[in-house]
Amino acid sequence: MSHVLAAVAWPYANGPRHIGHVSGFGVPSDVFARYMRMAGHDVLMVSGTDEHGTPIQVQADAEGVTPRELADRYNRVIAEDLLALGLSYDLFTRTTTRNHYAVVQELFTGLHRNGYIVPKVTTGAISPSTGRTLPDRYIEGTCPICGYDSARGDQCDNCGNQLDPIDLINPKSKINGETPEFVETEHFFLDLPALADALRQWLDTREGWRPNVLRFSRNLLDDLQPRAITRDLEWGVPIPLEGWQDRGDKRIYVWFDAVIGYLSASIEWARRTGDPDAWRRWWSADGEGKDSPGYYFMGKDNIVFHSVIWPALLGGYSGAGSRDGQPGDLGRLNLPTEVVSSEYLTMEGRKFSSSRKVVIYVRDFLERYDADALRYFIAVAGPESNDTDFTWAEFLRRNNDELVAGWGNLVNRSVSMAAKNFGAIPPVDPAGLTEADEALLAVARAGFATVGDLIARHRQKQAIGEAMKVVAEANKYLSEQAPWKLKAEADKPRMGTILHVALQVVSDANTLLTPFLPHSAQQIHELLGGTGVHAPMPVLQEVDDLDGGPGYPVLTGDYTVGARWESVPLPAGRPLAAPKPVFRKLDPSIVDEELARLES
Ligand SMILES: [Zn+2]
Repeated sequence: MSHVLAAVAWPYANGPRHIGHVSGFGVPSDVFARYMRMAGHDVLMVSGTDEHGTPIQVQADAEGVTPRELADRYNRVIAEDLLALGLSYDLFTRTTTRNHYAVVQELFTGLHRNGYIVPKVTTGAISPSTGRTLPDRYIEGTCPICGYDSARGDQCDNCGNQLDPIDLINPKSKINGETPEFVETEHFFLDLPALADALRQWLDTREGWRPNVLRFSRNLLDDLQPRAITRDLEWGVPIPLEGWQDRGDKRIYVWFDAVIGYLSASIEWARRTGDPDAWRRWWSADGEGKDSPGYYFMGKDNIVFHSVIWPALLGGYSGAGSRDGQPGDLGRLNLPTEVVSSEYLTMEGRKFSSSRKVVIYVRDFLERYDADALRYFIAVAGPESNDTDFTWAEFLRRNNDELVAGWGNLVNRSVSMAAKNFGAIPPVDPAGLTEADEALLAVARAGFATVGDLIARHRQKQAIGEAMKVVAEANKYLSEQAPWKLKAEADKPRMGTILHVALQVVSDANTLLTPFLPHSAQQIHELLGGTGVHAPMPVLQEVDDLDGGPGYPVLTGDYTVGARWESVPLPAGRPLAAPKPVFRKLDPSIVDEELARLES
């Protein structure tokens, strides 16, 4: 057994999340974590809401609430949505906890002591009409690298490069269109060039990364610049240096604090379990955590933070880089093993946009459809390695033709027929198994190696495809064997054998599909007469801040229970539950209804 970190991107707490977000970071990380646990690994899956930064400050100002009040509202909405999707976080927390502040300040201090954070007088943008700092993301202009004319002050969405607003050609305020004024201000910078060689050496040792991610990351190293990590802003983590700590106008900026959330959430999780050092089993590069892999899940717009910036922070803190240095109090820390990024999901051919109402929020989706219907769509047709379009027609087709007519039908007819004729798992006829029976059982058993290996390598589309092939084989077997024709008393033993084989394969296929479809997997486990937890689910808990701050909700759960990744023989004679359909067939009219909602 090994310790496996599943580090999941932190949703920004400025609004509810739409299905594009959860198809990028949410469902794939949960499939991976569930599989790894079933395969016997000790998984720590952490995330939370990302709550600092200027967008939340600006939105709070516009609504006349404090940034904290805004963050409280959307932290809860997002946590509830992720709960409804069944995402099995060990801890889903937030960046406004006192624990997070302390860990961010510890990393800042360690990097500063090792010489990787340096002060610099720089030119910052202010609004000429108000005199206030104009946040990066609120400045738009032409990208100096690729010429894209709507590049943001912090990043160009076209070429993906990190920018500073002063680099933009013809900059304008997105709030009121005025041209920002650039004034001198003192800030701290992360000295990325001093960490570039160490980053390059580390990238050279990466295996199994998607080639585009590796190529993109290597290219970024070619012209790394020192990057400002503080801002003129009141909303954020205070700078932990003498003369700066108590200043109300300077804060550590959101991109620096949010990536540290993976570590602070792991430490918070450990503190809440009563074993405050337990996080080291996943993180410590010396001692028991040294071989523990860490997998990071995100959308492709976040690659730079996980393949360059976060490794730079971890490396610099640990004393790796051209200035060397000593590890801080947390010791040497593990860098990411793999950065698993997804591509974009579009909606009916258009980019998701809350402002243009090209959107469906997770909450609204789950009011009308089941969580596993969405999880199935994301697994078979999500943006794993290509930009992908969500259409209601395709959602309907996948749900009705594959989930209901394929998997649901197999479960339904085999359980119903066995319940009606035997009331229990039927025994195998003393005549034994035929070649066809043995062949089908072998296909199902072989699925464990194939599907498991694909999930472990982040090929989830192929993985669920292989699991659904087992389903298709079993449906074909039932059609060929036609147990419904074996009603004569003399044929009944053979009918029992066929149904025994079919139910065994239903059970195996159900285990293979459990990481993808945990809600229905639990129901099918119970239909087969199983008891107890098959697919453990997260819970939402109200907790106190560990260090005296305001309380908040977290997602957590006990995932030590549940099915293992193996074929478990069904005992003949075990009573079957009363059959009921597990999946819902959708009426084709939903397509027009949903499209009308999108237009309105
Ligand atoms: Zn660009």
